[in-house]
Amino acid sequence: MTYQLSKTKAKILLFFTEVFFLLLLLASKKIPDNLSNDFYCLSAFTFFVLLFQFLITFPIKIYSDFFLPQKFRLYELTFFNFLLKELTNFLVTTILVLPFIFFLLKTPNFWWLFSSLTLSLSLLINALILQNLALKGSKLENELSQKIAVFCKKHSLPFQNIFLAENQTEVFDASLIGTGKNKKIFLNSNLLEKLSEQEIFSVLAHEFGHLKKNHNTKKFLLETLLTLLSFASASLILSLFLPLASTKIIILIFLLLTVFSFLMEIISNLFSQKFELEADTFASQTNGKQNLNSALNKLLQPENTNFWLDLLFSHSPNLEKRLKNLETNQRKTL
Ligand SMILES: [Zn+2]
Repeated sequence: MTYQLSKTKAKILLFFTEVFFLLLLLASKKIPDNLSNDFYCLSAFTFFVLLFQFLITFPIKIYSDFFLPQKFRLYELTFFNFLLKELTNFLVTTILVLPFIFFLLKTPNFWWLFSSLTLSLSLLINALILQNLALKGSKLENELSQKIAVFCKKHSLPFQNIFLAENQTEVFDASLIGTGKNKKIFLNSNLLEKLSEQEIFSVLAHEFGHLKKNHNTKKFLLETLLTLLSFASASLILSLFLPLASTKIIILIFLLLTVFSFLMEIISNLFSQKFELEADTFASQTNGKQNLNSALNKLLQPENTNFWLDLLFSHSPNLEKRLKNLETNQRKTL
């Protein structure tokens, strides 16, 4: 089985485990129904729900985020680093849940609006600041970086400083981060090992394609809209169950949001795949179809995956789709 398919199956298993766990809690008679409607009390209760959920789903995460990348040799990850990442995620989730409980208690009619806006704001902070801090690398100052500068100038692409990335992650080959004049290009060292100069230019042109078509802004707006819709729908459904005790309401909201975020991911994946193909089209118009074609063939493995699972759960289209997209564009321009 390929990496993508194994990962997708683990993701689906994780979703059903979470739903099952929350349904079990909802049906449980052991959970106190009338916990005092107090911020600290509810926060403590929510913390324990999240902690149990974390512990129950942890074996699946070990499989999907530690074992699978090792098995497919995607990147070197020590168990300590994996654990650190998971614990940080858990901590961030617990902190993000606090404003949500606060809004639920203070503004019962508008908790969905304030909670989803808080969540979108934290996504924005993550995209603008934290991701930039997470990427580390040394500045590339050699013949290649000069050639890249010439290439960017020729195609009037907003050229900025080029860095060789130190911490490599699974999906990342080249990346354009930052805003305004602080934009930086990060190249993964595997690009320099595997690709020719022209192929590297094509990968860069793909990244500039994302920039030119404002994909990051579009993705952020889409995610904000979907989050708002999920929270609003949860609130609407919840209004049918209002007599429930406060603890059960929190579990019910978690359950609804788990289901909605699963659906949200599918919608955002469909858009993300569309954006990848658009960026490919831009790259082939800028630096020729053939250069991108050979770069893609070197970087991606032909995958023999399930059509539907691949369409719904992968954020980038597979090699076959990307090559087909190049061919179709070639025909259109002829
Ligand atoms: Zn891309």
